[in-house]
Amino acid sequence: MSYQDHYDVIVVGGGHAGTEAALASARQGVKTLLLTQNIETLGQMSCNPAIGGIGKGHLVKEIDALGGIMAQAADRGGIQFRTLNSSKGPAVRATRAQADRVRYKAAVRAYLENQPNLYIFQQAVDDLVVENDRVVGVVTQVGLRFSAKSVVLTVGTFLGGLIHIGMQNHQGGRAGDPASIALSQRLRSLPFRVDRLKTGTPPRIATSSIDFSVLTEQPGDNPTPVFSFLGKQADHPRQISCYITHTNEHTHEVIRNNLDRSPMYSGEIEGIGPRYCPSIEDKVVRFADRTAHQIFLEPEGLEPGEVYPNGISTSLPFDVQYEIVRSMKGLENAHITRPGYAIEYDFFDPRDLQPTLETKHMGGLFFAGQINGTTGYEEAGAQGLIAGLNAGLQARGLDGWYPRRDEAYIGVLIDDLITSGTREPYRMFTSRAEYRLMLREDNADIRLTPVGRQLGIVDDERWAIFSAKQDAVAKENARLESFKFVPEKIDQTTAEAVLGEKLNKVTSAIELLRRPKVDYAMLLELMGTEQAVADDVAEQVVIQTKYSGYINRQQNEIDRLQRNENMSLPTNMDYKNVRGLSNEVREKLEQARPVNLGQAARISGVTPAAVSLLLVHLKRSG
Ligand code: FAD
Repeated sequence: MSYQDHYDVIVVGGGHAGTEAALASARQGVKTLLLTQNIETLGQMSCNPAIGGIGKGHLVKEIDALGGIMAQAADRGGIQFRTLNSSKGPAVRATRAQADRVRYKAAVRAYLENQPNLYIFQQAVDDLVVENDRVVGVVTQVGLRFSAKSVVLTVGTFLGGLIHIGMQNHQGGRAGDPASIALSQRLRSLPFRVDRLKTGTPPRIATSSIDFSVLTEQPGDNPTPVFSFLGKQADHPRQISCYITHTNEHTHEVIRNNLDRSPMYSGEIEGIGPRYCPSIEDKVVRFADRTAHQIFLEPEGLEPGEVYPNGISTSLPFDVQYEIVRSMKGLENAHITRPGYAIEYDFFDPRDLQPTLETKHMGGLFFAGQINGTTGYEEAGAQGLIAGLNAGLQARGLDGWYPRRDEAYIGVLIDDLITSGTREPYRMFTSRAEYRLMLREDNADIRLTPVGRQLGIVDDERWAIFSAKQDAVAKENARLESFKFVPEKIDQTTAEAVLGEKLNKVTSAIELLRRPKVDYAMLLELMGTEQAVADDVAEQVVIQTKYSGYINRQQNEIDRLQRNENMSLPTNMDYKNVRGLSNEVREKLEQARPVNLGQAARISGVTPAAVSLLLVHLKRSG
């Protein structure tokens, strides 16, 4: 049966990728349908109740700068906020929020339900409607057919999902939700490269059964950091602490004695798991000399209910999980509310995607999130935003857009995926970016909000707040440029106390701020004024001033390399016609079909010499 309404964009899946995709499409004024298995699970956190962290926090700020909702939902649902690496340079400082999963989900749902042009419908999608190598709609579980110009698939860990607890397994998309079997089979009939990955989650523990009095408390930062560029501390609910316990020799012995009952070690699980989020059995085997591992006990919500023991993700049988949990300090009488488990699922080789996240083999079909081999809410949300944006742009008849590696971590993420693919769940780290100093959390709005505005996904409120902040930064810079300290006119005793020496020539305030030992508060003291601008404005002025030398150097390098990024390679290019390429390099280029010379250069095995041959070929044929 065909449903009467026609949509421009259909987004399948209401997780972190799906919700950002649907919003990014609808924000452009494009008629968008979000189809998901269960409306109650919109924005659900399948695993740990936390948003952000190193590299991931950067993605969240970028999503926010482009008008997405993850940061705002984290501000409304966050119950413990921290700035990680706060004593290090601004490039690696990162925001992390422990979230109340009910409040987070409610915030996401409210944003979705208040978004004009967005329609939500609860149904699982079983099939795609394909005409002439183009997707033109979807068919749901009960046979409803919806048509659209493009479709964004964001079905997470659900495709062919198989849940393992010990040697037992059953089909499931995540605990409590059904797997997508029909859709998995349909996708496997299309010309995509498909493989299996695995991820896992720990058992959950009843808060009331934990003895917190013997544990180390870890409060959040005070004042609490704010995630969204539109956020305020007043958005945050009451703040609470996390607690720390440890595994011990006995825990490790229990695990070692039961490894033969682990689906990972007995060969039951074929998919590769996340290297940087290993199961506790993996940690005990890989780091055999360690006698303890730190475990964070993170509340799942503000009201006492369940606690997430971060660090003991496991697929060992339940009786072993029980022993592991009760072996730890403070958890001797713990009651487990949900068993831990591992899940295996299908993912599609992201090298089959264009940088807009449209698939290469099927027009109008976009993939985003865990389906592309990533792990994490933030990675999923970032891809969802780009896929939904581009599906919407396509429906509007406009060219696609994606950020470059030097513009955003989102650019790094997408370029890594489509250029190199992945063999294990991919997560973001600051070390993946070559231009870290440019890609800071604090300047995500400067990097991305103007382009988001041009593309139609940044609304008037965000634009007004952004513009006001930029004006304030410019004004404060100008004030500090023009403020001159004259040696004869200043109090040299204060100058000596603040600067460590007397001032002996006329110096502007901005010049003084450039000195490594001078911070903004000292400068104001010397100027004899109070802080007149907001903290985020002051932070921007300080970072731009103190790091300008490094930033300019990095910008010059980016400009130099930009030449390669501007050299487009036709996607139907016949690499056999490029003289001098080795067979190996030719095959790699044919497989990857890079969109420009820069991307070609980043494919492993494509040598600088091969890039020169491509350049010569382009010049000759161009
Ligand atoms: P999901 O959040 O999985 O959302 C998928 C959505 O699609 C759901 O709303 C679902 O109902 C819907 N859907 C599925 N099939 C259909 C269909 N046929 N029709 C309509 N709707 C459909 N991340 C980490 O960073 N660290 C971890 O340690 C970690 N551990 C994890 C452990 C487990 C057990 C699981 C399940 C996930 C874990 N994750 C972890 C991953 C994290 O949950 C995902 O990366 C993130 O949720 C992916 O977002 P997504 O939007 O791609 O998919």
